[in-house]
Amino acid sequence: MNVKRIFCIGKNYADHVAELAHLGYAPDGECVVFMKPASCIVPEGEDIVLPKGVGSIHHEAELVVLLTGGDRDVAVEDALDCVAGITLGLDLTLRDLQTQLKNKGKPWELAKAFDCAAPLGEFRPYLQQDLQALEFTCHVNGVLRQSGNTAHMLYSVARQISILSQTWALQPGDAIYTGTPAGVGPLLPGDQVVLQGKGLGRYQWQCT
Ligand code: ZN
Repeated sequence: MNVKRIFCIGKNYADHVAELAHLGYAPDGECVVFMKPASCIVPEGEDIVLPKGVGSIHHEAELVVLLTGGDRDVAVEDALDCVAGITLGLDLTLRDLQTQLKNKGKPWELAKAFDCAAPLGEFRPYLQQDLQALEFTCHVNGVLRQSGNTAHMLYSVARQISILSQTWALQPGDAIYTGTPAGVGPLLPGDQVVLQGKGLGRYQWQCT
């Protein structure tokens, strides 16, 4: 199943919200929803072509789920029936630009939806494993940057699906980037990024 729409959930791990407090992030208990076009996807094996002259470009390592559909108004208790697959991905973010846009009250698209902004691993079938007990890491040039556990999400995957279904009729091919834990940081041309998680796979990209 090809990804047709990418939904992203922001501010979903308290430790990440805290690390960006100096940029105005506040723990208001509400997640943020935004989208990226599917054309942003960078599969493993292709290079991440970083935009130039745009300030800092941050990696955000995230659990990504693929949906079978679900339509409107999915109840939280039924939401995991909509999950087809799971993998890891990077929600790449132009952090300086995002901060400028936020300060001006403007939308985030320029900072979140640029070409190559969604490196994505290969989906593995969802086998009813506990989606709120998955550990994953992000290494850059062999150095550990992010180490997360989905147990620490503020909004569970099921709640995210239910929330999205209040606005959109969920379709096969919808994917959700489920938020990032602490440890986000800059990527530079030449960097090698590795995402890894037990049961989620290992995915590697080269930045140019
Ligand atoms: Zn993110």
